Amino acid sequence: MAVQYSSVLVRYGEIAIKSDRTRRRMTSLLTRSIRGALREHSVTFKKVRVEYGRIFVDSDQAERAAEVTSQVFGVVSTSPVVVTDANLDIIVEQGLALARANFKEGLTFAVGARRVGTHDFTSQEVREILGARILKELADLNLRVNLSNPEQLIYVEVRNNLAYIFTDTVKGAGGMPTGSQGKVVCTVSTGLDSPIAAYKVMKRGCIPVFVHFDMFPYSSSQCKDLAIRQVRHLAGYVYGYEVKLYIIPHGEGMMCVQESCPAKLICIFCRRNMLRMARLVAIKENADAIVTGEIIGEQASQTSRNLRVTDAAVCDYPILRPCAGDDKVEIEHFAAKIGTYKFAEEGLSGCCGLVPDYPSIHADLETVENAEKNIDLSILNEQVENAEVIILRSGKSLS
Ligand code: ATP
Ligand code: MG
Repeated sequence: MAVQYSSVLVRYGEIAIKSDRTRRRMTSLLTRSIRGALREHSVTFKKVRVEYGRIFVDSDQAERAAEVTSQVFGVVSTSPVVVTDANLDIIVEQGLALARANFKEGLTFAVGARRVGTHDFTSQEVREILGARILKELADLNLRVNLSNPEQLIYVEVRNNLAYIFTDTVKGAGGMPTGSQGKVVCTVSTGLDSPIAAYKVMKRGCIPVFVHFDMFPYSSSQCKDLAIRQVRHLAGYVYGYEVKLYIIPHGEGMMCVQESCPAKLICIFCRRNMLRMARLVAIKENADAIVTGEIIGEQASQTSRNLRVTDAAVCDYPILRPCAGDDKVEIEHFAAKIGTYKFAEEGLSGCCGLVPDYPSIHADLETVENAEKNIDLSILNEQVENAEVIILRSGKSLS
């Protein structure tokens, strides 16, 4: 019997424990993103439907649909499924065909089953009867049963008049559906850390407004192009919302700062002004927070003291640092997973010409604030007004 996957079973996690109203809202956001992702990746589908704590994507391209859907924020895992009538004989025949198509020789296996609704068979009968048929009919594969730690699994989920049978599960992106939280301003350099910081808050449902500060002439003129490519990649994880990138010229402004402040504090001044400009963008865009990629202790400007002095520049917006507690090696793995490692590999990050040989690791807020009295901060408004704004994704509505 040929195996034909005709749907994808989509599992979601935290949404399931929300109140009814919140769950409905989040499920609707999630299905909207799933439809958007499928369309964008040219996967044809008939329907995305919600049923008893699960989402099903009916598609003749179920394996591809399972891959694409798994990467949507809010999805815990997906499985391409064979859909049959909830009839024990049919379930066993289809289950056997699926095991023949997918089971590898000599490995252990188990049959899992659960039921929702009223049927003339139990879940235990599904496990026993299908397990026995597989052992008998696929004797040539030398399979063995291992219920506690099987190497391969066949699972039957019976829901009222239909049964869903699968062997494979694709791990999902996790998190919460895009749009379940508000906008946040994500400051993104060409380095490894800030794209991950942005990804982490996007994963929790925030809509990003990206900001890159163009440090030319203190950094390479190629940084801007690299930042655009990097952010375009990140925007690819958002479906159905407009995503903007502000490119704000910051190099010239730093020339004036450099003349009137102690060299060892220059990075603190630079970061404080970045936050001030990010705040201006947050006001324009009605965003709720500013996101940066600092890791505690990774660089001189990232000691706990210096972060405190940096943050004091902006008092009315939370500064989120989702990478604060990560180790660099964790960041590298994460970047490889989400596809941003390749951008940092181009080697343009970390080469800002302003960084002094001996930066302060214990800045004093009063000293910084006194030195700033000699700096004309109105240039920051001008820089934001002169920003180049690129629309990376249109917010065309998804149904
Ligand atoms: P990254 O790998 O994100 O560049 P980093 O470890 O190099 O981080 P810093 O250069 O000290 O750290 O920057 C700290 C944070 O400030 C960055 O994570 C980012 O959020 C923000 N930032 C730094 N430079 C820029 C820039 N040119 N444009 C936008 N944001 C920036
Ligand atoms: Mg950097």
